[in-house]
Amino acid sequence: MNLEHINALKTLLESTSKIAIIPHKNPDGDAIGSTLGLWHYLKNKGHQATIVAPNDFPKFLKWMPGAAQILNFEKENSQAKECLENADIIFTLDFNHLGRVGQMTPYLEGAAATFVMVDHHQQPADYAQIMYSDVAMSSTCEMVCHLLEYLGDTDCITSEMANCLYTGIMTDTGSFKYRSTTSTTHRIISSLIEKGAENTTIHHRIYDTNAPSRLHLLGCALKNMVILEGYHAAYITLSQAELDAYDYKKGDTEGFVNYGLTLEDISFAVIFIESKDEGIIKISFRSVGSFSVNDFARNHFEGGGHTNAAGGKSDRSLLDTVSFFESLLPSYQKELG
Ligand code: 5GP
Ligand code: MN
Repeated sequence: MNLEHINALKTLLESTSKIAIIPHKNPDGDAIGSTLGLWHYLKNKGHQATIVAPNDFPKFLKWMPGAAQILNFEKENSQAKECLENADIIFTLDFNHLGRVGQMTPYLEGAAATFVMVDHHQQPADYAQIMYSDVAMSSTCEMVCHLLEYLGDTDCITSEMANCLYTGIMTDTGSFKYRSTTSTTHRIISSLIEKGAENTTIHHRIYDTNAPSRLHLLGCALKNMVILEGYHAAYITLSQAELDAYDYKKGDTEGFVNYGLTLEDISFAVIFIESKDEGIIKISFRSVGSFSVNDFARNHFEGGGHTNAAGGKSDRSLLDTVSFFESLLPSYQKELG
């Protein structure tokens, strides 16, 4: 974050404000962890802060301190709209273009507030007056920790904040194993544990609270996996009927896509998940090495993200989406090695 933007943010936060904090649609551990971490900080500083999420988030994130007070734009619509309209400052966390908040997009576009972006995805849009965008960062939660350092307020990190921020760093780094995990990430993690992050408990609450139906859904997903050795690629499909058969709940498919990458010689993994409600196929892309799934998702599936982890969608049927995907691969033969 450059000095000009740090000073602008310091000035902005000098007077007490009405603040809205926004994660992206279908918020993950980093989105919920970073918004809650920042929310606790701003409230403790005397601001009137509210988190407005575009929609609901998985049960395995609901234990986080403050999670029950997050407004759901879909369910608490009038309260959420009022909050966006009246905000002096709007922080957008863990996304970088206003199309990532679903039905909330026009309300953010129309808001009179000063926008602050904190995000680590590629190709940020330019809606924010104050921008902290760094694609080298492991997670938005790590960036919130740096932000507090820039503001001279690391002493303000409470155990509630530490637990929220630890969670997002852990989930976005695949428990500290992805390339974006640096020695600085580990130093921050160390300081969060000192400040009260309960690392073992957090890990348990995120990863070890499966219902049997979720493991059965995983079994179904793994059975459906198609391996395309020639392209070093593997993909999984899950139809709405399969999701229904295994009592699908939000968040149940989190992490499934990664199984493709555990195969030897596979460096590109995809999952296609049918959503009858939204009328789309939601797609997750993962890679190891230099193949940019951000570019692939952006160019063909109205999506984006990071070099090695991205998402997108398709309006075609599940079958047609998969056929379209397979038809693209020959032109990537060289890049897929
Ligand atoms: P996931 O596959 O876990 O949903 O997302 C992987 C990464 O890509 C995350 O960092 C997420 O924020 C981003 N992402 C997921 N879906 C989309 C999308 O539709 N558009 C963009 N720009 N990014 C996405
Ligand atoms: Mn993130």
